[in-house]
Amino acid sequence: MEKPIDIKALIVATHAAIANHVDELTSLDAAIGDGDHGVNMKRGFDAILADVDTLALMPLSDALLAAGTRMVMSVGGASGPLFSTFLVVLGRELNTENARHSLLDEQRMTNAFAVAVDAVAQRGKAREGEKTLLDVLFPISQALNLTRNCADLASTARQAACATIPLKATKGRAAYLGSRSIGHMDPGARSVSLLMDAVASLTGPK
Ligand code: ADP
Ligand code: MG
Repeated sequence: MEKPIDIKALIVATHAAIANHVDELTSLDAAIGDGDHGVNMKRGFDAILADVDTLALMPLSDALLAAGTRMVMSVGGASGPLFSTFLVVLGRELNTENARHSLLDEQRMTNAFAVAVDAVAQRGKAREGEKTLLDVLFPISQALNLTRNCADLASTARQAACATIPLKATKGRAAYLGSRSIGHMDPGARSVSLLMDAVASLTGPK
C-alpha cells in the first residue's frame, strides 16, 4: 500500500517556498512585468494555508480542486487563473476511486500532470518557448515520464527556469518589452521551480 500524501505538510512547504521568496519574485516581475508576482503568489498561498485544516481532511484530488478555487478567488493577475487551472485540472484528473489519498500509481500522476499542463497552455493561449511558467511545467511533465524522483524533478525545474533567461517573451505583460525581456528569468517559471523544490523537500534526499 502506498504511503498517503501528507496534504498539510505539502501546503505548509509550498506556502513557505513562496513566502520566503516574495522579494525575489517581485523583483523578477519588476524587471519584465509590473512587480506584483511575489505578492500575487503569496496572497494565493496565504488563502490556501488559511484553510489548511479543512483541506488536509480531504482526499488529494478534492484538496487540489479546493486549493485551485481559493487561488483564483484570491489572486488577480495572470498567475491566479493559470495556477488555479493547474490545480483544478490536476485534482479533476486524479479524482478516481483508487486515486484517493495517495500519489497513486505512477502513470496516473504522469498522465494527470500532462493534462493539467495542457489546460494551463490552453488557458493562457501559450506554448513552450514563450517565456512563461509553461517553460517549467512542460519540462517537469516530460521528465515525469522518465523519473519519479522529486529531487531530480526539482533539478529539471530549476534548470528550466534558468533556461527562460535568454528567451524573448511573447505572452503576458513581459511581451510588451519585446527583446528587452531577454536576459531576465520569468517570474512564473521561478515560482513553479520553487514549488517543485518544496515538493522535493518533503520527500527527502535520494
Ligand atoms: P500579471 O502578469 O497579470 O501581473 P503575475 O505577475 O502574477 O500576473 O504573473 C506573471 C507570470 O504569469 C509570468 O511570469 C508568466 O509566467 C505567467 N503568464 C503570464 N501570461 C501568461 C500566459 N498567457 N500563458 C502562460 N503564462 C503566463
Ligand atoms: Mg505581474
